[in-house]
Amino acid sequence: MRVEHLGERGGEPIAIVTCLHGREQCGKAAMEALLDRGLSITGDVRFVVANERAMTAPDGPQQYLDDDLNRSFPGDPDGRSHERRLAAELLADVRDCRVLDVHSTLSDGRPFALFLPENDRRLVAATGVDIAVDVRNRAGRGALIEFVDGVSVECGLRGTQSAVDNARTVIRNFLAALGAIEAEFRWADPEVYEITDTIDCVDCTFEGENFTRVDAGEQFASRDDHPIRASEPFYPVLTSRDGYEEMLGYRAEKRGRLSTLE
Ligand SMILES: [Zn+2]
Repeated sequence: MRVEHLGERGGEPIAIVTCLHGREQCGKAAMEALLDRGLSITGDVRFVVANERAMTAPDGPQQYLDDDLNRSFPGDPDGRSHERRLAAELLADVRDCRVLDVHSTLSDGRPFALFLPENDRRLVAATGVDIAVDVRNRAGRGALIEFVDGVSVECGLRGTQSAVDNARTVIRNFLAALGAIEAEFRWADPEVYEITDTIDCVDCTFEGENFTRVDAGEQFASRDDHPIRASEPFYPVLTSRDGYEEMLGYRAEKRGRLSTLE
């Protein structure tokens, strides 16, 4: 793990956490590009490159070595798993920070935030992205944002330049909104989708579109050329053709704009 302290100590610290998943390197690339161009940081900012060993694995980058790091928090300093030890170490470095956790995905090219409603929702607005997913029904699985005041952002398709470009925009907006750099920014008021359930469909091919409503009776997937239809209407979220093994992704309900929610 690499932790770079940027800006001036003091005030409320901010952490930009990248590479919780080893193949998702858009945040690291974006942060390095911003720093190369002389981004002037005045706030107390920590830039974290989390799972370096997964990034430099002998057979090429892996998502993780022993356990999914973003399912390993709060971690265990004496654990046998690399990621359980790393989670404990990382958490000690960012526990007092407002955290932006940067990912990329196999599901959708549009950037979207993942958040827990009990965390400071201004952090979601500070990302500047127009779609947000309330993941409270997936909580309790050891994700970083369950243990810090923070928000995760999926910046685009893994390995693409557009994910890096989106990550740069999100990081810059976040730092500016929280007063750590001088730059223009916007407070977003994203449309919120709340995950309700998984879409369990073994060997299915997803044929819908993320964040686009599937009506009751509508075909959204197929298996061996047979249509799979929805019994209830839902919005697919984090759904990809081959992103997960045992499930297609998640069902969500649309809740409205962030600012209108209780
Ligand atoms: Zn990820």
